[in-house]
Amino acid sequence: MTTHDDSLDEVIATYDVVVIGGGPAGTTISSLLSEKGWSVCLLEKAHHPRFHIGESLLPMNMPILERLGVLDKVAGIGIKKYAAEFNSPVTAPEQDIFYFAKAADKSFPFAYEVRRSEFDELLFRNCKDKGVKAFEGITVNRVDLDQAVKKVWASDETGASTAFHCQYVVDASGRDTFLSKKLNTKKKNPDHQMAAIFGHFHQVERRTGSDEGNISIYWFEHGWMWLIPLKDGMMSAGCVCWPEYLKTRDKPLNEFLQHTLFLLPEVADRFKNASLAGDAQATGNYSYSASRMAGDGYLLIGDAYAFVDPVFSSGVYLAMQGAVKGADYVDTVLKDSSQQVQLASTLQLSMQKEISAFCWFIYRFNSPALHKLLMSSDEKRLHPVKQKMKSAVISVLAGDAGNQQIKFYLNLFKGLYYFSILFDFKRHWRFMLFRRGQNRVQVDV
Ligand SMILES: Cc1cc2nc3c(=O)[nH]c(=O)nc-3n(C[C@H](O)[C@H](O)[C@H](O)COP(=O)(O)OP(=O)(O)OC[C@H]3O[C@@H](n4cnc5c(N)ncnc54)[C@H](O)[C@@H]3O)c2cc1C
Repeated sequence: MTTHDDSLDEVIATYDVVVIGGGPAGTTISSLLSEKGWSVCLLEKAHHPRFHIGESLLPMNMPILERLGVLDKVAGIGIKKYAAEFNSPVTAPEQDIFYFAKAADKSFPFAYEVRRSEFDELLFRNCKDKGVKAFEGITVNRVDLDQAVKKVWASDETGASTAFHCQYVVDASGRDTFLSKKLNTKKKNPDHQMAAIFGHFHQVERRTGSDEGNISIYWFEHGWMWLIPLKDGMMSAGCVCWPEYLKTRDKPLNEFLQHTLFLLPEVADRFKNASLAGDAQATGNYSYSASRMAGDGYLLIGDAYAFVDPVFSSGVYLAMQGAVKGADYVDTVLKDSSQQVQLASTLQLSMQKEISAFCWFIYRFNSPALHKLLMSSDEKRLHPVKQKMKSAVISVLAGDAGNQQIKFYLNLFKGLYYFSILFDFKRHWRFMLFRRGQNRVQVDV
């Protein structure tokens, strides 16, 4: 319903739910709430297709895409990713491949690598088809959550303003973190402050056969690198670095990215005929979360709620999974708000559990102990117990950390990690001191 209020001299539109941001989180929750019968308005400041980083999906994204009815379309724009390949210049063997078919749940043995411009546009058009009033080129500037009727003010590119009235506001504004900044609930993660530089490249050597779509992850002395093959022959490549290294930048970002990729001989070899397509980009202010995921009449999902290092390609999965859980929560609360406080705390705990399953590995990823433990020898010669531990780790990497079948072997793996620290405590201690020092380094990228 849309009316005109002369006293405010702006258009007023009324919906059950207003969603800020049309990325994977915002489009998913909009589609699901519309399916449940609520009137939903989605406001996106950019125009699709627009560039976005975060191209590697996880197997557990697949059931969500299926539920949204877009799995076939995603298959059309994506390249199949059967595994995550880890490479280290200092371990023997130097490479280990984690095939998703070896996870505890065999139902989703692959995911897709996608161009986010295409993927996000597809999700956006899909939610329009499901009845969501989805607008592009509309930026949300202000919200008022104090009254029973929530108000959201947004403007288009001409500056014309609209006030949206609703019962519920969902913030899915990504790393802009619109609401947590306004509510002053955003907290930087003091233990994990790295930053990323990245770009798209032509003519990077790809893996062959069914391994072509695998993501390649490389440890190197200043952090880690990713290579994500895209369907059109392009390669997305990036380096997630310690702040101290980024402070040494003495050349333009394009050159610095290429220089950094060439620090590893194996990567340099894959890039010998490569050229950068467009400009390199950088992202700082790395990990954070909001202290509250939901309150009276509002919910934060995806990167608007929390962001963790993307080494395990968890971002899009967590954004969409948060949206799935968030849709059930908003639906319940709109029908009966009496349980809101308790339901909000249950929802936040459940998302924190999902996030921390990745974080255990992320925070230790650069530690010598985990580094060594992840890189196992010839698969067939692995002890059956070690095979089960590896399968448990693969399940986490697939986005299936909640699977009860893996609990025992995952805990065993973690126990082995702590045990191995005891045997190499001095090295571990040096790493901890190094990391603590890095977290204090300020860098503008
Ligand atoms: C370097 C790097 C590498 C990554 N690699 C991966 C990866 O390989 N795999 C993976 O799964 N994840 C990866 N991620 C994470 C992934 O990009 C995000 O987790 C994911 O995009 C989150 O989705 P979202 O919908 O929450 O936010 P977004 O995708 O960022 O969408 C938010 C949307 O909100 C819009 N918006 C913002 N403010 C407003 C406003 N005021 N009004 C209206 N609209 C607004 C934005 O324009 C945007 O379209 C990576 C992240 C980084 C930084």
